[in-house]
Amino acid sequence: MGKLLFWVALIALVYLAYRLFVISQRRREAAARAARHAGAQPPEERMVRCAHCGVFLPSSDALIEGDRAWCDRAHREAGRAGHAGE
Ligand SMILES: [Zn+2]
Repeated sequence: MGKLLFWVALIALVYLAYRLFVISQRRREAAARAARHAGAQPPEERMVRCAHCGVFLPSSDALIEGDRAWCDRAHREAGRAGHAGE
């Protein structure tokens, strides 16, 4: 009985070590792929700040007028009203 338990424990340990190895290998691969992907696409997206609430968002999602930007239409209207609510 003791011998059987020893073998079961040994096999479990070997299996666990193998799983950890596979997971770390996969993680390294995924990281390398992500790095390649990031390198292929230059970070051309500029971050802008809502002139009303101060939240940062990508310029493609923002409403931009001149040198000011807003996160949504309501905030643009509030900003146009002349910083009344600040
Ligand atoms: Zn806002």
